[in-house]
Amino acid sequence: AIMPTLLSGIANGARQGILFKNGAQLEKIGKVRAIAFDKTGTLTTGQVQVFQVIAGSEYTQADVLKAAVSVESYSEHPIGKAIVQAAGDLDWVGAVQVQAIPGQGIVGIAQEQQVIVGNAVFVQKYVTNLPEELRKMAQSLEQEGKTVVWVAQGNIAKVMGVIAIADEVRSQAAATITRLKKLGVEQIVMLTGDNQETAHSVAKAVGIDRVYAQLLPEDKLDVIRRLQQEYQTVAMVGDGINDAPALAQASVGIAMGVSGSDVALETADIVLMADRLEKIAVAIHLGRRSQAIVK
Ligand code: ADP
Ligand code: MG
Repeated sequence: AIMPTLLSGIANGARQGILFKNGAQLEKIGKVRAIAFDKTGTLTTGQVQVFQVIAGSEYTQADVLKAAVSVESYSEHPIGKAIVQAAGDLDWVGAVQVQAIPGQGIVGIAQEQQVIVGNAVFVQKYVTNLPEELRKMAQSLEQEGKTVVWVAQGNIAKVMGVIAIADEVRSQAAATITRLKKLGVEQIVMLTGDNQETAHSVAKAVGIDRVYAQLLPEDKLDVIRRLQQEYQTVAMVGDGINDAPALAQASVGIAMGVSGSDVALETADIVLMADRLEKIAVAIHLGRRSQAIVK
């Protein structure tokens, strides 16, 4: 039977917008020694917008957007939604045979031409080179924390341009990290599918020193496993389908209640009801208190 103290801890959490799925998780979070945070949608709002469109020499910005939206209109990724919004009333045609590759990008065929949109590593599987000038611009945008996606087209694919996507760091993120360090959490890391430059820029803004970038969903799980070898009790905080394997592997999986995808919510042990990151510290506190009372 569940201890009354655990029940009151769970009720206490509920009042503060923290949903514990069971009492065991309340106890476990009190013992957490390392925490991994996803970036997009977790440390940031995930309400992304197109910040800039840069066309290569033979194309216009409209060409780049029209090609991108032909495939992204099928995407559920925040990047896809931002591109659809930016394309507005340009006249574009939806692609066929669209295939989204989680953590990498999306491809399809529009007007008999192959269209590829995604990160640099992904697009380089289709094109022979990324033009130097665009590469430089992409790098400086990434250093400002923007996520850059590449757009390529053609059956012998050529880069058309890049689209820089802006995402806002959550207002409570930095204070939450500071608080967790004060609570004695020994290791705090960021896990992201995004590139190194963008990841480091966001990590610096929130006070996280250790960053694992360009991760696929299985890589996120691997990092959690390695952290568990060193710190035993490890929490993972995430929102996306791409976080689900890591949320399941973590000793305590924590999902964002509003921005979280269904899969993330189902997989997690704890849900932060209003996406209030700072409640993680409250959850640790409640967990520690429940242990103190039980013993
Ligand atoms: P995160 O771990 O930060 O939540 P994801 O794993 O969802 O990020 O995506 C990692 C990277 O893969 C993105 O930054 C982007 O470059 C690329 N990517 C993923 N999905 C798409 C898409 N639909 N369109 C373009 N790029 C994408
Ligand atoms: Mg995410």
